Amino acid sequence: MEPSLPVECAAPLTRRTRQSRVQWGDRLVTVGGDAPVRVQSMTNTDTADVIGTAIQVKELALAGSELVRITVNTPEAAQAVPHIREQLDRMGIDVPLIGDFHYNGHTLLTDYPACAEALSKYRINPGNVGKGDKRDRQFGQMIDAAMRWNKPVRIGVNWGSLDQELLAGLMDENSRRAEPWDAKPVMYEALISSAIDSARRAEQMGMDGNQITLSCKVSGVQDLISVYRELARRCDYPLHLGLTEAGMGTKGTVASAVALSVLLQEGIGDTIRVSLTPQPGEARTQEVVIASEILQALGLRSFVPSVTACPGCGRTTSTTFQELTKQIDDFLRAAMPVWREKYPGVEQLKVAVMGCIVNGPGESKHADIGISLPGTGEAPAAPVFIDGEKRVTLRGDSIARDFQKIVEDYIEKRFGQPQVAAAV
Ligand code: SF4
Repeated sequence: MEPSLPVECAAPLTRRTRQSRVQWGDRLVTVGGDAPVRVQSMTNTDTADVIGTAIQVKELALAGSELVRITVNTPEAAQAVPHIREQLDRMGIDVPLIGDFHYNGHTLLTDYPACAEALSKYRINPGNVGKGDKRDRQFGQMIDAAMRWNKPVRIGVNWGSLDQELLAGLMDENSRRAEPWDAKPVMYEALISSAIDSARRAEQMGMDGNQITLSCKVSGVQDLISVYRELARRCDYPLHLGLTEAGMGTKGTVASAVALSVLLQEGIGDTIRVSLTPQPGEARTQEVVIASEILQALGLRSFVPSVTACPGCGRTTSTTFQELTKQIDDFLRAAMPVWREKYPGVEQLKVAVMGCIVNGPGESKHADIGISLPGTGEAPAAPVFIDGEKRVTLRGDSIARDFQKIVEDYIEKRFGQPQVAAAV
């Protein structure tokens, strides 16, 4: 059948929100409004360990985390926070730090003013601020501290620590309905109400609504989608998006990618975190890599040059192209902390590493630089395409090294030159 209209190009929707400003020194990270979706992460070191925590924050920041959250759970942790900040400043790492508080945040923020000042944002969990009449008072103390130090907050609800009094009240209300809801929608309602009501209470206390970000984290993909769609419908606060307790390895990666992508495509989510359980020996920075890849895959942001590679098949019986793909990918990622400053725009680069002649030349021509390796039975030659044109054919044992050099030279030439002003 003849097409009647051109197929529309899919693009993420835009959700208009307020804009929160998270700052340390001259480093300002805006969240929401017209800001790009921000990547954030969380340390898993003991915050009382100043050097260990500062090193991990540095690693996360260099991997691309624009905000880093640290646990502040004890007096020792609170005392360590300003020293972590100083250590980071000495290392030239200006990433804003977010303090994660539960149970005793009201006390720590009051008793340790240097901690309150050194943090750039506070995370408050309304389910963990106290029970009964203490709840509002202690929540209020944390909001007071945020206003005193002019810090934004995230009101972060989690279904593992949901305000049980609120939930019980909603369950009672539900039981009086002529047709009671199932338990799940009541739980969704409790999560959403806890976040929005707490934000409104903070505003009633005098907090600027632009200083508030909300989150309602759950660990089920469909639950997260349902809750955030409704949360986004009911408020215009920026939303911190993440699947809590996503799990480990492939499961955690896929579940996070699926849940976040659906919502991000609908314009929901202003900052994201991938809550991945690291595999033994795995770097904490993996959660930053995945969060960045989700945004890059959706076309929302670019962080590192992308490497397109074919999966390989019976036409590639050697591991050469797998090794070359990994080598090029590792090389590009490792260089990014320096290249980000040295070669502005390099993150837009597209490289292709292909396994044989079937799709190799075609895919390589679509990339800025592509190499089509010889498949089984093909002549031992690897044509290299630059800007869509075949430029050189590599042969011999040094194909990997030669290709890496070609990529480096291309980057230097295309992104390293000072921009010449166009004649007017
Ligand atoms: S490009 Fe060649 S090696 Fe790669 S998947 Fe396609 S046919 Fe197989």
